[in-house]
Amino acid sequence: MTDRLDLLIIGAGPAGLSAADAAAREGLKYLVIEKGVIASTIHRYPIGRTVFSTTDELEMEPGALKPVSEKPTREELLSYYLHFALDRDLLINTDEAVTEIEPGSEGFNVKTSRGNYQTARVLFAIGAMAHPRWLNVPGEDLPKVHHRFVEPYPYVRRDALVVGGGNSAAEAALFLSEEGARTTLAIWRSDWENRDPKAGAMKHWVRTPLEREVAQGRMRVILYDRVEEITERIIMTRGNLNRGDEDPNKPPVVSITPVAAAPVNAPVTITTSVTDDGLPKPRPTVTRPQTTSSDGTIRAQANSSATGNRPRGLNVTWMQIRGPARVMVEPSGPILVAEGKATATLKFAQPGTYVLRATANDGALSTKSDVTITVEKR
Ligand SMILES: Cc1cc2nc3c(=O)[nH]c(=O)nc-3n(C[C@H](O)[C@H](O)[C@H](O)COP(=O)(O)OP(=O)(O)OC[C@H]3O[C@@H](n4cnc5c(N)ncnc54)[C@H](O)[C@@H]3O)c2cc1C
Repeated sequence: MTDRLDLLIIGAGPAGLSAADAAAREGLKYLVIEKGVIASTIHRYPIGRTVFSTTDELEMEPGALKPVSEKPTREELLSYYLHFALDRDLLINTDEAVTEIEPGSEGFNVKTSRGNYQTARVLFAIGAMAHPRWLNVPGEDLPKVHHRFVEPYPYVRRDALVVGGGNSAAEAALFLSEEGARTTLAIWRSDWENRDPKAGAMKHWVRTPLEREVAQGRMRVILYDRVEEITERIIMTRGNLNRGDEDPNKPPVVSITPVAAAPVNAPVTITTSVTDDGLPKPRPTVTRPQTTSSDGTIRAQANSSATGNRPRGLNVTWMQIRGPARVMVEPSGPILVAEGKATATLKFAQPGTYVLRATANDGALSTKSDVTITVEKR
């Protein structure tokens, strides 16, 4: 049959283009059938993205891909592959999907969305990226849910949640956060803690700036188990989140603990313990103020994982919210946390109920927790 092809290639990604070029050079009668555009997968990368790979891993011929920087952007790579196809006048039908292949008398009958072909051989160069993976949870088809990240600009000053633990998710979260979206990355603990490049750990050039966004309080990371449902909110199971029983990202727990007795006109020491546990926590958290009446010491605990990049250091400030008289706090300004602790001395001039607020601040974000102290006459 004269119309019969020697080779039908499905897909015009880098693999399909390379095969088409080789087929052309061999003088084969070939055709590429592509359901989208040339290099569809790359076309679907986020706009302006710099790719991970170096030129030698991407180019069809050594030295042919010449990006402005060390690694090409999506646009440079796309242009390179398009020109590879155009310059060689490769035979490609775009916007045509292969829908069925059957063995024929002399090869294969290939059915597409536009017609039928007979071919001696079929080469599948269909990649692995054509279909997004759905979570299959209720609400996933809502218009606000997307399975592909294009660009951050529609989300500036809006809440954006990225669910996933691979490079693409991390990169999308990073782009969003860097461009001013209020970003949360929901990631499995195993992915967050994976540092082994051989086991698919996040690339370090994504992780480093991403951790900086977290440390500077612009991005939240939540460790989650399962997305259960998406409504106007997103409902997640968040079990087994921390080494202890603390959720590293929950908002500050404000627990008000009445103090048995604090003396009038005698100094009361108040200590804030600060622990860095290395977990992704966007803000220092003052938790569970506790009191001990025996020595008049009041303890509160603050957690922060903002280990680096603290522009002004981690500090704790106490302020008075309520009370019958002014409380003297010494020192009165921010108390630098040293060896995990910040200590202040309080003096109450009158009996009554006082509410004081501890603010733990790492230079980027702060967290508040209130403590109630009852002062009695001795
Ligand atoms: C967001 C993202 C970022 C990535 N970043 C990088 C990176 O930085 N570095 C890197 O090396 N790799 C990266 N990759 C992976 C890289 O894009 C792929 O490895 C590469 O595109 C694979 O080339 P391919 O030709 O095998 O398949 P693809 O490029 O996926 O091409 C397959 C083609 O087949 C077509 N097709 C599928 N089914 C049919 C059908 N039934 N009929 C007709 N046509 C069909 C598709 O439309 C597609 O155009 C990334 C992938 C994604 C999704």
